[in-house]
Amino acid sequence: MSNFGDLANPWVPGLPVYEPGRPVEEVARELGFGSADEIDKLASNENALGPSPRAVRAMQEQATQMHRYPDGGAYYLKRALAAKLDVEPGQILPTNGSNEALELLGHVFLNDSVEIVMADTAFVVYRLVAAAAQSGVVAVPMKDYTHDLDGMRAAISPDTRIVFVSNPNNPTGTAVGSDDVARFMDSVPDTAVICFDEAYVELLDEEDRPDTLQYVRDGRNVVVLRTFSKVYGLAGLRIGYAAAPEECMALLNRVRQPFNVNAMALAAAEAALEDEEHVERTRAMVREGLAGLADALDEAGIPYVPSVVNFMLVEVGAGRTVFGELQKRGVIVRPMDGYGLPKHVRVTVGTRKENERFVRELKAALA
Ligand SMILES: *Cc1c(COP(=O)(O)O)cnc(C)c1O
Repeated sequence: MSNFGDLANPWVPGLPVYEPGRPVEEVARELGFGSADEIDKLASNENALGPSPRAVRAMQEQATQMHRYPDGGAYYLKRALAAKLDVEPGQILPTNGSNEALELLGHVFLNDSVEIVMADTAFVVYRLVAAAAQSGVVAVPMKDYTHDLDGMRAAISPDTRIVFVSNPNNPTGTAVGSDDVARFMDSVPDTAVICFDEAYVELLDEEDRPDTLQYVRDGRNVVVLRTFSKVYGLAGLRIGYAAAPEECMALLNRVRQPFNVNAMALAAAEAALEDEEHVERTRAMVREGLAGLADALDEAGIPYVPSVVNFMLVEVGAGRTVFGELQKRGVIVRPMDGYGLPKHVRVTVGTRKENERFVRELKAALA
């Protein structure tokens, strides 16, 4: 009999596990659908328009080069991102999804005698990263489903090593604005790293995006995280990046794998960055989808949290039950009890057809 559990570091067996959704094919088979195509997956905030066609072409071209290791320094992608964001190439680190950047931050800054500060209903991976490093978690209540930056500022102690601000926030779909961010940054001490996780920022109009990269240029203790998983439609490839001052990069580079980003992902990301048209089409689809969903839910008298991104918290009563009912009807959403929101489900904005089906099946499920 093996006894790996006894041999493991003592805190590991007790760590929480991230629950991924099941494969759509499995759900289809179990529920008696003819194929996965009959199911609409609106559960993971993916891009319903698919990947950028330019990225697809770049990957097809790259396929014949898969016997080569990737460029471990991500030379071209760093330069392209730096030019786009007006920072230095040395202030960018491409990562295996922005989740990897979160993990690297944990390796560099967290241990069992420090803590993180986050909003209580923010992205769950911050908690997992803290747990893996045995750090404490100070979870600050949200106000009106929105980050309370004053409250988070007040929660920072000398032991706080990272403050995570998910902006816009998953799963609530809300954002904090430039003035709030500026006031927060004026008052935070230099004993903590401020991490702005901006996975959905491209969905905001330019003037609504707090200029967090300015803090990177200014050499503040700020790390900005972005991803190609959402608006760029490349979630399956696992590519995101961190932007931070060079001093921070020197640390992150010491704890990452030499080839943390694969060659396919580098090629696709470079191509996707140039595909403004795909980003614009996505923004338009999300804008129309959000408005359509809001109208339909208003009309049906179903409450929801107004969203600025490509997903929405909908208050359905018994969230997990309604999730199950919707799944039987071929629509997969995300139950939110794990986030302390048992009355809500989170639905991703899809195509018009998908959104309309969601509302139709939701009404049927609630009836
Ligand atoms: C989706 C998401 C991420 C991105 O994850 P990837 O690892 O880049 O796929 C990061 N933060 C938040 C808040 C998200 O919703």
